[in-house]
Amino acid sequence: MNRKVGVLGGGISGVGAALLAKAKGNTVWLSDAGEIKKVHKETLQTYSIPFEESGHDFERLVDCDIIVKSPGIPATSQIIRDLIAAGKEVIGEIEWAFRHTKGRIIGITGTNGKTTTTLLCHYFLKQAGLNVAMVGNVGESFCHFLAESEADWYVCELSSFQLEDVDTFRPDVAILLNITPDHLDRYAYSIDRYAQAKLNIAGRMTENDTLIYNAMDPITVAKVMSNETEARLNSIRETDLSGSDHVYVTNDLRLDLSRSRLMGKHNQVNVLAAARAALAAGCQPSMLQSALESFNNAPHRMERAGVHEGVTYINDSKATNTDSVYYALEAMKAPVIWIAGGQDKGNDYSTLLDLVDKKVKALICLGIDNSKLNETFSTRVKHISETTTMREAVRRAASLASSGDMVLLSPACASFDLFENYEDRGNQFKKEVIELRHV
Ligand code: ADP
Repeated sequence: MNRKVGVLGGGISGVGAALLAKAKGNTVWLSDAGEIKKVHKETLQTYSIPFEESGHDFERLVDCDIIVKSPGIPATSQIIRDLIAAGKEVIGEIEWAFRHTKGRIIGITGTNGKTTTTLLCHYFLKQAGLNVAMVGNVGESFCHFLAESEADWYVCELSSFQLEDVDTFRPDVAILLNITPDHLDRYAYSIDRYAQAKLNIAGRMTENDTLIYNAMDPITVAKVMSNETEARLNSIRETDLSGSDHVYVTNDLRLDLSRSRLMGKHNQVNVLAAARAALAAGCQPSMLQSALESFNNAPHRMERAGVHEGVTYINDSKATNTDSVYYALEAMKAPVIWIAGGQDKGNDYSTLLDLVDKKVKALICLGIDNSKLNETFSTRVKHISETTTMREAVRRAASLASSGDMVLLSPACASFDLFENYEDRGNQFKKEVIELRHV
């Protein structure tokens, strides 16, 4: 049926939504309040999709039958409020994708671990020979993929922003990894609202669907218990972790992480979640261990950056909140020189104090304003240095480390004060570790 579809936002999600609308025979109009990147404009032009930038033509949008909005645009923005007040149906990109697929979906959300779990789960299904695509926050936008092809299974990474705008979306398997404070500026500083957005993943699941959740995470448990869902519940519990590197996917299936590149308790949870989802999708239990062993995670997540003079360097640049740093420090099995800092998102470092007392022998602050780190840790860590370049930070760490120690870049902060993004920060770290050979 040819409908008039208005798309708000000209980034990856918006362009994907417009392409899908066009591929399904609709008339499309894309509108962005800001400037649209050249690469996206070229795509829209290639597919003859009309668009505007630097402002919205409200009359034209209100003339559409349905509005698909990008996740970056909050529900509280004026344009969304005006369109809803005018009686328009406004949905998100994931909901739009869901309305155009018959494929089965594994949806993955949580504050931390989404990308790792999505990649691993996709890898399991792929290794098992299933016809599977990886979509959502990692990989291609769900809509863009559907504009060009179909798969039997989708492994879909879902942020809370994407989950705000779902209406009929129903994954066959959902994974809820954890809920800890992050992005609270979007949710009027209410963890409850943030958690509720994440719980939307399970809102419409039926008794034939499976909800895998982390029962060790207090907010996740409270939310799963208070939100009625018909889904079969599959909880990840302390007893599923052996305390060493083994995890119990089922009573009869144990996986050994020491033969994989994934380290730390947080990755044990991710592996359990991905493996249980893979079993729910029909993968054979016998293939999971060998697939786990050949799996390579995305860079900048507890990635080994090298060993220099007996000191191991770990790049965890993607750790932009305190919870991810907690698990990084917990995974360290030797004295740590910890490189942290950057743009603070309102961090509460108190959860790290015990681990820092036990494991950190020096803290290298890498940021423009290090006052909060200094205030919190000056009485707990013997040596604290201030640096403003990655070269300085890595060289200072190297000078303080003894053979057998670990140097951990796990910043707990965003990177934008000194770096382009977390990838740039992690890449600079890896480069400086290699450079140590020439110092
Ligand atoms: P996301 O896509 O949710 O940001 P990533 O897999 O990219 O998750 O990991 C982001 C950071 O969180 C990394 O520093 C990683 O080591 C850490 N992390 C990964 N899994 C978990 C988890 N289950 N709990 C807490 N931290 C995690």
